[in-house]
Amino acid sequence: MADSYLKAVNSGVTKTLAKKLGLPRPAVLRRWAPGQPLTTGPVLVVGGRPGVEDDADRVAAALLGWDLDVRQVPAGSTPDPALRWGAIVAVMTEAQKPTDLSETVLAIGANLRNLAGNGRVVTISRATVAGDAPALSATRNGVDGFLRSLAKELRGGATGNGIQLTEAAQVGDPSVLAALHFFLSSKSAFVDGQLLEVGDGPSWDATDFDWTRPLAGRVAVVTGAARGIGADVARTLARDGAHVVVVDVPAAGDSLARVANEVGGTALQLDVTAPDAGARILEHARARHGGLHVLVHNAGILRDKLLANMKPEKWDAVIAVNLDAQLRINEYLLGANGFSENPHIVSLASTSGIAGNRGQTNYGFSKAGVIGHTRATAPLIAAVGGTANAVAPGFIETDMTASIPAIARQVARRASSLQQGGQPIDVAEAIAFLASPGSTGVNGQVLRVCGQNLVGQ
Ligand code: NAD
Repeated sequence: MADSYLKAVNSGVTKTLAKKLGLPRPAVLRRWAPGQPLTTGPVLVVGGRPGVEDDADRVAAALLGWDLDVRQVPAGSTPDPALRWGAIVAVMTEAQKPTDLSETVLAIGANLRNLAGNGRVVTISRATVAGDAPALSATRNGVDGFLRSLAKELRGGATGNGIQLTEAAQVGDPSVLAALHFFLSSKSAFVDGQLLEVGDGPSWDATDFDWTRPLAGRVAVVTGAARGIGADVARTLARDGAHVVVVDVPAAGDSLARVANEVGGTALQLDVTAPDAGARILEHARARHGGLHVLVHNAGILRDKLLANMKPEKWDAVIAVNLDAQLRINEYLLGANGFSENPHIVSLASTSGIAGNRGQTNYGFSKAGVIGHTRATAPLIAAVGGTANAVAPGFIETDMTASIPAIARQVARRASSLQQGGQPIDVAEAIAFLASPGSTGVNGQVLRVCGQNLVGQ
């Protein structure tokens, strides 16, 4: 699904014209390719206190370990105008009161003009917890509004995201570093203005870990994988080393078989609303691949109607596929002890389930329901060393969104900080991150992949 406007404003005479007319000019986003450096230039770490070994030094040391060119500059210094930062990482974990952060945020500001196209700003702070003193709670929550506003000021494909550590987590924890790695990389191209809470989570061995194949030896099931986002999820999980089972309705059997062949996996023709769907998924994964580690609930449908015109069959179909099927399959797999060690469930929600959308009461209910069951499943699956998270895409270029009327589609594309729709691969990369051992400290969270859609939060 090509965005012809995006192409036009980035090439030839139409680029010059768009510039002259002051039209929105969405940037071409940098996406992951094999062998690509993690960032496009040196990384500036701000927030450290001179002469004291602190969290900023620990973050800088971790970044050096990834062979990045890392700089920490004295507060108030002016950057060399020729310098282009690949990323600015702001460490804010030790702030106790709002004024403690002034120097750090102003240091980010002083360097923003030097941020490269497709650059990254990542804040690392602490999440508020019950019992925080008012000044501490204000400081920690302030980062939320700061980051979301800053992300809206970035241009040229640059993004701003934040990591919020829970009480037990430390900046050097593998899960915190994995989240930082994801936000710095081009794998998070369409994730913008988001804050992800990271806890210490169940431990996993990061020594000798192969970051290029984080899912090696894992078995992943992806529903609705015959096309669109699901097909790209299957490709991405296979790229990361997983054995993949692709699931879709029998009517999509041919395309499903093509995806299965492409990823070297197996196909299971199954309507996820079938009462025995959970049992059939488990049976297939065990018989063909010896276990089940990752489950991606991606199958979903739209049946848009204003509520005043809603027919029971439209309401019921959306709830059955998008929500009830996920609930039933999870209940079966958790009840039957069906998951292998360190399982990860990732469910597709939607920004419509967060902000609401006219004509989508059924879809909005189902997607908000997904967020609800994800939060409730998190502690249940943590008990067996696993995680349950949701990914909420905004406008993604697929067959599903191609069915939206042309003008509404153009409006939806421009209504984000990145002024364009995302690609299925953007959602797939976020899912692959949440399915990997590196994300064990992320549980019960909703990660939006929406280019900071201006609707809702
Ligand atoms: P799509 O329509 O292109 O693909 C969905 C797939 O799910 C199809 O292959 C379909 O056959 C399959 N499916 C439908 N009902 C099924 C059932 N009962 N059993 C098994 N498979 C079934 O959709 P997409 O755009 O790739 O969306 C994938 C997911 O992402 C959905 O859950 C959707 O709600 C969500 N999402 C998409 C967007 C977007 O902008 N495209 C935005 C937010 C959320």
